[in-house]
Amino acid sequence: MSKHITHWIGGEPVATAGATPRRGDIFDPATGQVTGHVDFAEIAEVDQAVAAAASAFAEWRNASIARRTTVLFNFRELLNARRDELASIIVSEHGKVHSDALGEIARGLEVVEYACGIPQLVKGGFSEQASTGIDVYSIRQPLGPVAIISPFNFPAMVPMWFFPIAIAAGNTVVVKPSEKDPSAANFLAGLWKEAGLPAGVFNVVHGDKVAVDRLLEHPDVKAVSFVGSTPIARYVYETGTRYGKRVQALGGAKNHMLVLPDADLDLSADAAINAGFGAAGERCMAVSVLVAVDPIGDELVEKIKQRMATLKVGPGCNGDSEMGPLVTGQHRDKVTSYVESGVADGAELAVDGRKHPVATEDKNGAPTADGFWLGPTLFDHVKPGMSVYNDEIFGPVLSVVRVASYEEGIDLINANPYGNGTAIFTNDGGAARRFQHDVEVGMVGINVPIPVPVAYYSFGGWKASLFGDSHAYGPDGVHFFTRGKAVTQRWLDPSHGGINLGFPTNS
Ligand code: NAD
Repeated sequence: MSKHITHWIGGEPVATAGATPRRGDIFDPATGQVTGHVDFAEIAEVDQAVAAAASAFAEWRNASIARRTTVLFNFRELLNARRDELASIIVSEHGKVHSDALGEIARGLEVVEYACGIPQLVKGGFSEQASTGIDVYSIRQPLGPVAIISPFNFPAMVPMWFFPIAIAAGNTVVVKPSEKDPSAANFLAGLWKEAGLPAGVFNVVHGDKVAVDRLLEHPDVKAVSFVGSTPIARYVYETGTRYGKRVQALGGAKNHMLVLPDADLDLSADAAINAGFGAAGERCMAVSVLVAVDPIGDELVEKIKQRMATLKVGPGCNGDSEMGPLVTGQHRDKVTSYVESGVADGAELAVDGRKHPVATEDKNGAPTADGFWLGPTLFDHVKPGMSVYNDEIFGPVLSVVRVASYEEGIDLINANPYGNGTAIFTNDGGAARRFQHDVEVGMVGINVPIPVPVAYYSFGGWKASLFGDSHAYGPDGVHFFTRGKAVTQRWLDPSHGGINLGFPTNS
């Protein structure tokens, strides 16, 4: 039966009104079949969602911290109990394997748990007797309705980078998920309702640029958290700030993994496979460039090739699949065109993913011949200037660049316009420390290939990987979703009387 995904406004599903509503197809990427449709919001639906959020804000900002925390804990329990169901929804629309979907939920849960600590996180400072008889203290307050615009690759985790903290801090939320895998957001909306969140605090509008543009210009939306590709992130940042909003816009990536000659090459090869081909390379923290400091290049490439040959590519719902399909046919074709241009540019196609075997049916017996497949692909002797090096491919294509020294490797990484994540593999503590100091990238792994920070740090890249000055979740997240107020107080007694037009000084 074909599903129909609608907006979630004021605690209820709401279909787009009008005679000819715009809709998008939802695919099962493993079979290539359309499994349903998602409504695309017009301005009226976005306005309806923002109005619901604005009206709920009056109550929610006044809800005690104890009440908000209770709802957060309820949500945490529900999400934990139903994570398997949510993972299946993600697999059916994104294509990633079930264990990977569970992994993204686990990382989202971490942020929910961090937000359960909101009583500590919004505590202010207090200075007694800052001046005679005067105390000064600070408080942090919510902003109002905030918008969260998310990409297809983490339909549960990326919204959860933002909304647990936003809601815990007393804001109300409108989420605009990716139109490619919209169902996870509605599932989460249902959990919030069950958890006791008042109607209107958490809303979802589905759609495309029309919905995004309306959120960016709507006067009642006070802040925007965006995650997606760099051109759209830049656009969202420039447009949202022009309308006077607080904006954090996380963009694309081209993550380099530097392997020094003293590294354990088996562990490095394992890491390159996991970080290069997990989620079919559709991760903003995926390793897409492996920088091998010679003389180890040949041996490392050989070890990677051996491992690639064993990877099981198949539907995410099949228990033995290690890598699933790409998200859409269009995206698969785009990634495949990079394989063609890599060859045309003169890179050495060490492993051709177009020839990799794929499971022929999913666990329910549905044929997978029309799925959006591309197997793991490896290019060797890649050079800057080639499109496989320059562009974010966002697929299972790993490029190996050979360099002669650490210096050449770090220069290459720092010259790249992106700065999301990076990793160094070495057994030399001094080299690792130097790398951590030198590298112009926001998240660094030392023998860790996908260094996504835990929830009590903050997530964010540098350069073209992030626009704005706040990273996601952690302390930056709390700061982003609250605004500070400093209060200077004096309780009058008769000794304070008298006229004095001078500027207040401390005494
Ligand atoms: P995308 O930029 O195409 O879409 C992101 C969101 O923007 C979606 O909700 C989409 O509907 C909306 N959108 C698309 N085009 C728009 C337009 N012209 N105007 C306004 N809104 C528009 O990204 P995607 O393909 O869904 O996701 C993949 C990208 O996200 C990759 O570049 C990846 O690196 C990036 N990403 C970055 C991070 C990070 O933390 N830096 C995390 C995850 C994904």
